[in-house]
Amino acid sequence: MKVFYTDRLSTGPLVLRSRELERRGVNAAFTTRLGGVSEGPYRSLNMAFHVGDRPEDVHENRRRVLDGLGIDPERVVGCEQVHGSTVVAVEERPEKGWVSGADGLVTTGPLTLVAFFADCVPVFIFDPVRGVIALVHAGWRGTAKRIVARAVKVMEATYGSRPGDCLAVMGPSIRRCCYEVEAEVIRAMPEVESGWVAAGRGRYYLDLPAVNAAILRDSGVGDIWDCGLCTACDTSTFYSYRAEGGVTGRMAAIVTLGRSGAS
Ligand SMILES: [Zn+2]
Repeated sequence: MKVFYTDRLSTGPLVLRSRELERRGVNAAFTTRLGGVSEGPYRSLNMAFHVGDRPEDVHENRRRVLDGLGIDPERVVGCEQVHGSTVVAVEERPEKGWVSGADGLVTTGPLTLVAFFADCVPVFIFDPVRGVIALVHAGWRGTAKRIVARAVKVMEATYGSRPGDCLAVMGPSIRRCCYEVEAEVIRAMPEVESGWVAAGRGRYYLDLPAVNAAILRDSGVGDIWDCGLCTACDTSTFYSYRAEGGVTGRMAAIVTLGRSGAS
């Protein structure tokens, strides 16, 4: 099964979408770097302000994506993304539009959750029984702190979700082919079979999606789909912090529960 299909929005951006989630009433998208107006290292659909891009270009890129997906900007909620493991349930949009100190959000409401990525693993977790959606930003620090397990716990504790009912979708991220790390990073990881291989000279190739999938399985999540796409292997389509030496744009994972947000 193909986890994502590509969709060129009428406003220009090229995004990845999930038919399996759409079929279940969830409007989930992951932007590529194509179809925006940003230039230089941010070419072209950079979604984040903090990376050094021109603010007016980021505004235009965001407008194209939200308009193209039929999403009301007044309903969008982000999280601060501090590479921690805090996951917060939100039912109302905070005034500033984002939640401080969080790397994951959970909702049952008519909000659109958004998070930004350039190599870290985007994870959507959906409970079709209780109608709960989570969006998680899992870099190596968040993965070491088992942030996806925290998200499942918040879904259980706040909304009564059963992990066995839940399905998880993992988007494009850096993968074992491209992610060489020091032993210190491996020591921080939960013990996972085939989560990494030795690269020699005391270094390793880390498979972040595989580690997150193992943590999700451990948490009892029923269905896990990984798209298998590597951001660092394909910098013509994706931004990669690692492959582009730290100066690059960000892609956005965007998810809305219910069909109201679908175009
Ligand atoms: Zn790769």
